[in-house]
Amino acid sequence: MEKLIITIAPTGSLPTKKNNPHVPISPDEIIQTGILCEKAGASIIHIHARNPVDETASTDFHIFRQIYQGLKKETNLILQISTGGRAGMEYEKRSKRLSLAPEMASLTTGSVNFPTSVYINSPDLICALAKDMKTYGIKPEIEVFDVSMVQNALDLADQGIMGKPLHFDFVMGLKGAIPATIENLVHLKNSIPKGSTWTVAGIGASQLPMSVHAINMGGHVRVGLEDCIYFSKGKLASNEQLVKRIAQISGILDREIATPDEARQILGLSLTPPT
Ligand code: MG
Repeated sequence: MEKLIITIAPTGSLPTKKNNPHVPISPDEIIQTGILCEKAGASIIHIHARNPVDETASTDFHIFRQIYQGLKKETNLILQISTGGRAGMEYEKRSKRLSLAPEMASLTTGSVNFPTSVYINSPDLICALAKDMKTYGIKPEIEVFDVSMVQNALDLADQGIMGKPLHFDFVMGLKGAIPATIENLVHLKNSIPKGSTWTVAGIGASQLPMSVHAINMGGHVRVGLEDCIYFSKGKLASNEQLVKRIAQISGILDREIATPDEARQILGLSLTPPT
């Protein structure tokens, strides 16, 4: 089995220090978290920006740039910038950060009913973001909240807007998205083209079991406080602890973990990241 790629999603848009004091908010905190998580075994970091004053999700290009440049200087992690819309749904707000030309960026290929809001990703918006990623040489991580989003991504690949091999992230266990069951994971895995790579982001209490399934099934794992703030029932986690635990479990299951450069090879990224 190929080596395991661990993605750390340290902050997201929602959890605050009130929820868990380990949530990194300022660019410097996010950079320091990246350094610790790389040492613990992560090879990709999924990046969101936060407004340092009120901790809300931010679309501020300068904050993204500060995080990006700091992580680039201090780590060898693959930098994956989120184009998620919680901080602002409009294309202009979600696309400017792509001009930083990170190695990867997330791309959600459909809309979702979140518990109290609608996460809107219109066909035009998805297409425009995918074209930007192609222009800047960014590999998309296709965020799949439901099976139909796989097909939407395949349509974009057929049109040449996304290059193969594709890389998918199955976001499972969020209310309004696909439930986190092993049957659903098998179905998702069987729905993507051969030669694709995939990872699982289990939300909340599903993070640990879905990660273990992915390790055993040859997939990859995303963990972090963006998706779950707990280590175990009632016990708050730190990002570093979550990465360490996956590295340990993978070792016990006799699957080695990938360094960032090994992850680049698995994902078909250039070994010399853009400067
Ligand atoms: Mg995200």
